Amino acid sequence: MEMLQSIDAGLVVLDRNYQVKLWNSFMENHSGLRSGDVRDQSLFSLFDCLPEVWLRRKIETVIKLNNRAFTTWEQRPYVFEFDNNRPLTGMSPVMYQNMTIIPLPAPTGEVEHVCMIVYDVTDVAINKLQLREVNAELEHLSRTDRLTQLFNRGYWEEQLDKEFSRFKRTGAVSSLVMFDIDHFKKINDTYGHQAGDEVIREVSRWVRKVARTTDVVGRYGGEEFAVILLNTDAAQARYFSERLRRRIEEGLVSYEADEIKFTISLGVAEADSHMESYEDWLQLADKALYQSKNNGRNCLTVADCPLNLAD
Ligand code: GH3
Ligand code: MG
Ligand code: MG
Repeated sequence: MEMLQSIDAGLVVLDRNYQVKLWNSFMENHSGLRSGDVRDQSLFSLFDCLPEVWLRRKIETVIKLNNRAFTTWEQRPYVFEFDNNRPLTGMSPVMYQNMTIIPLPAPTGEVEHVCMIVYDVTDVAINKLQLREVNAELEHLSRTDRLTQLFNRGYWEEQLDKEFSRFKRTGAVSSLVMFDIDHFKKINDTYGHQAGDEVIREVSRWVRKVARTTDVVGRYGGEEFAVILLNTDAAQARYFSERLRRRIEEGLVSYEADEIKFTISLGVAEADSHMESYEDWLQLADKALYQSKNNGRNCLTVADCPLNLAD
């Protein structure tokens, strides 16, 4: 009994009516309730915040199957709402807990009591949560373009590869739009590199507004962008592209005292079953973009003959 009292885990023995039969010093220290105060009281009358339905179900199962049950902080951060008072992980207001529930059979074999063992795993939980946060942040950084916060080229191409495989598998069509700012060098030369950067940022904001949340928008190169329009045929992609072209033609980027007007050229290609890889798709959209540049810029071209890829 002495050993059970001093163990660095909570021990609670309950009978089949959920009345407390044992409450060790860990439970006393963290709950503020003395053993004498809780003895023979129903556990659920002592704590309002216990997940009663869930806990009853767990305990019933332990009794019925005469088998132990284990729950982790990842399934449920805590069972008892205790403050965290570990100095190293002081940033967590609560104590994260794992819990084991053990059946305690009487000599007859009948389970008449269960023992809940509550482990304080705040240190482990906080470390793991912080690691997860850092990993998520790293993942975000590794796929994001710094200047625009759009997907960077590497990640965007991976998505195109995936989308192309999906198209091959399901036949559900998607379209690809590539576009490039016209005479961007002149913008840099006239207004400065910083102003050029602001133009790139503004374009990315506009394209994000015109695109749907499911569309995959990336910065493909310096002043070149690419959008995968999911479940979208060439006609719908033309509509999207024309809206974007017009939005940019009519727009204005203010940078310091300057007001900068500019245009974009676009190339559109629908996925086609004759394509062998996503690179073919990309090449087709790129050719269409090149065509728009040749046609005088500030316009769009929809690729219509995927078989002419070799031209
Ligand atoms: P075109 O109409 O044929 O597309 O002409 P352009 O001048 O836009 O094309 P070009 O490819 O000759 O020039 C692109 C310029 O974009 C060259 C490069 O210095 C500039 N650039 C590339 N990345 C950035 C960037 O991140 N910020 C800024 N400000 N400029 C960039
Ligand atoms: Mg350009
Ligand atoms: Mg370019």
